[in-house]
Amino acid sequence: FPVENIRNFSIIAHVDHGKSTLADRLLELTGTIDKTKNNKQVLDKLQVERERGITVKAQTASLFYNWEGKQYLLNLIDTPGHVDFSYEVSRSLSACQGVLLVVDANEGIQAQTVANFFLAFEAQLSVIPVINKIDLKNADPERVEKQIEKVFDISSDECIKISAKLGTNVESVLQAVIKRIPSPKAHQKNPLRALVFDSTFDQYRGVIANVALFDGAVSKGDKIVSAHTQKTYEVNEVGVLNPNEQPTHKLHLKKEDLIEGMYPVDQSEYNNLKSAVEKLTLNDSSVTVHRDNSLALGAGWRLGFLGLLHMEVFNQRLEQEYNASVILTTPTVPYKAVLSSTKLIKEYREKEIIIINPAQFPDKSKVVEYLEPVVLGTIITPDEYIGKIMMLCQARRAVQKNMMFIDQNRVMLKYLFPLNEIVVDFYDSLKSLSSGYASFDYEDAGYQTAELVKMDILLNGNIVEELVTVVHKDKAHTVGKAICERLKDSLPRQLFEIAIQAAVGSKIIARETVKAYRKNVLAKCYGGDITRKMKLLKRQAEGKKKLRKVGNVEVPKDAFIKVLRTQ
Ligand code: GDP
Ligand code: MG
Repeated sequence: FPVENIRNFSIIAHVDHGKSTLADRLLELTGTIDKTKNNKQVLDKLQVERERGITVKAQTASLFYNWEGKQYLLNLIDTPGHVDFSYEVSRSLSACQGVLLVVDANEGIQAQTVANFFLAFEAQLSVIPVINKIDLKNADPERVEKQIEKVFDISSDECIKISAKLGTNVESVLQAVIKRIPSPKAHQKNPLRALVFDSTFDQYRGVIANVALFDGAVSKGDKIVSAHTQKTYEVNEVGVLNPNEQPTHKLHLKKEDLIEGMYPVDQSEYNNLKSAVEKLTLNDSSVTVHRDNSLALGAGWRLGFLGLLHMEVFNQRLEQEYNASVILTTPTVPYKAVLSSTKLIKEYREKEIIIINPAQFPDKSKVVEYLEPVVLGTIITPDEYIGKIMMLCQARRAVQKNMMFIDQNRVMLKYLFPLNEIVVDFYDSLKSLSSGYASFDYEDAGYQTAELVKMDILLNGNIVEELVTVVHKDKAHTVGKAICERLKDSLPRQLFEIAIQAAVGSKIIARETVKAYRKNVLAKCYGGDITRKMKLLKRQAEGKKKLRKVGNVEVPKDAFIKVLRTQ
């Protein structure tokens, strides 16, 4: 296929603005799929994508299109819109020369529209703005054109107005792809160089890699070497070629924004779960995996994710595609400590250490400063919610960096957030206080100094090692109180009173009490129903097997799970 008739492009947009629907129409127009069928998001193949109605994995499709006497090969990559999957977006973009930036004609520019635009802009790709859903009653494409001009500096003449749902004007999108996006530059005579931008594991065929070729050729039977691992592989099958000229370092970008420990519900399931995790991380290389051991929960893993939705989707895929059942602990972020003591530096071999496990938290006397990860957040909202949103941001220790009206009554706010303040429920709070209208996205912004403390949880004066956490000084009381309350609700009463305390150093900052237990297990049985008695005794014995003792207090595994796991 002549290289000058090839176009590699991607569709990017805020979630729900219509990327997958536009992809369906493009597939139909080019005869790639049958028009008569009721096609809905055909590229969303995973069960989790179908259930949540979102795209999680980037998907590729090759379209053949005849225009003005020439045949073109259009390689389309559908990308996820959500902030957590911008890793997938960047990887897709590294295989493209241009993008379709889809914006909803009713909602206008949203936070992820901005984030996705800049990913494409930084990668120096041609950007074709597409205003979608012009069929909607409240559609206001002219207003969206003005927003595009103001925020992205793209002239309104360049916007294509369509309805992906009805198919209106979709043909002109394909023509713009051919006219405005350059063909890739590939050198077929040079030795093979290719970028693996996605891979999956097939039980019968082995590893299937999606590659963008930027030099040479590859065919069945070839021996290829991975530049990353130096391992040699044999090619069993080859599909369509996608020439490309982007650098390979993108493949090795890795970041742990969010850390969670994950354990099998039953330790005998450890090996099955291990193989499921290995296969799934092959398909999503942005997840990092470390082995971990917990006194309460046994052998498991510490997993690094790019964000909460990313984590949830990974967990759901484990369940649905591999039938695994797991215990997930509340996620944390990677803190850092800059050490002052030479003895400690020798021990850690570095002056700056990453604190992933609270047990490694070095004492304040040995530390110059603690650092926490921060992100630059973008919020786009109707102006009536500004006051409430500013209060929410302040409560999350965020610092305002910028504010700009993108039209008469829509505002774009920029805030610097400590990452741990947004990972758990920030997005939900933002959505609920803006009646769903505010959108949010964030990008990595390095680290800032933070006053961090280690918080212990005590049962009758004994530290529960599993529950040690690192928190910001100002949040210690709230977090400590919440943990004590959760523990109080999940600890069964025992023969003596149990004091549950949260402490920073020797200072107690929260306390709850579990009253002593009076009745015995058989007291509920009136009369002499012997089978019921036996059943209760057996139940009590089963519960005991899983108990862990902290001092004199017995803690069932279940209580740990209730306190540690994601709510
Ligand atoms: P994505 O998240 O960007 O992939 O968006 P989808 O393609 O999944 O579309 C989100 C929702 O918008 C779906 O319910 C679509 O049916 C709907 N939608 C997409 N395009 C249009 C359009 O042109 N007009 C209308 N009215 N709805 C659309
Ligand atoms: Mg989609």
